[in-house]
Amino acid sequence: SKREGFATVPDTTWDDVGALGGVRRALETAICDPIKNPAKFAKYGISAPTGVLLWGPPGCGKTLLAKAVAAESKANFISVKGPELLNKYVGESERALRQVFSRARSSVPCVIFFDEFDALVPRRSTELHEASARVVNTLLTELDGLSMRKGIYLIAATNRPEMIDEAMLRPGRLENLLYVELPSPEERVDILRALIRQREAFTSELAEIGLRDVCNSFSGADLESMLSKAGEHAMRRDAEMVEESDLIEAAKTVRPSVGDIKKYEK
Ligand code: ATP
Repeated sequence: SKREGFATVPDTTWDDVGALGGVRRALETAICDPIKNPAKFAKYGISAPTGVLLWGPPGCGKTLLAKAVAAESKANFISVKGPELLNKYVGESERALRQVFSRARSSVPCVIFFDEFDALVPRRSTELHEASARVVNTLLTELDGLSMRKGIYLIAATNRPEMIDEAMLRPGRLENLLYVELPSPEERVDILRALIRQREAFTSELAEIGLRDVCNSFSGADLESMLSKAGEHAMRRDAEMVEESDLIEAAKTVRPSVGDIKKYEK
């Protein structure tokens, strides 16, 4: 089942993730290696980090990376969207959060992915409702217990790291901050290759369109949307295969979803 808040092993592989080699290696070191070789880490007395924070502009692969980490470590994956967890009756959010950790404990090794994490743990300096403060405390309590509960790893994602409560970023909590950036033209080609591999009507050389100005500032999500539109285009004219002209027409109708990259820069 793909229901929110339940544990399953995803089927995403590293091959599905284009570009982002540096972030991938950091995630392998921080999460995949300790999951795969717990005895080795224990031997040297190395305690694996509890979690990492992926941050950066929307649609650049944070969710994809988190799923690949779980799948490639053969770990269970529980996905939680910050705002959805908060939209509960008073007291229900804390219960739901404790339930997430309890499910994780009964399905180790497990990766818990918190999307839109800033909604869940806003800075205390910002106007904070009492309910929201209780959620932050519940999460901190669960996290502080994690070092003893081996096999549970946290990946949080946000577009706005400056909105996150600083207490979350201390050692033993979310120690690594990894920037997931908007792709360069060459990285767009790499992402398109990954996306095209999953689509029968596309040939690999079509990925070269990523170098063109029509794709300027496109995120991975924008590139995917371009491919969908190009596919529709080709299907409508009953073509066997998608052609470059389908892609160019499609690209012209995609608006870069990251309007102002300055908002998301390191
Ligand atoms: P948000 O901040 O909006 O939650 P996100 O960073 O989590 O976004 P994803 O959900 O991982 O972004 O990406 C959306 C879709 O865009 C993916 O399902 C995938 O199809 C495509 N995509 C984005 N980045 C990449 C990438 N690096 N390689 C391959 N596909 C990508």
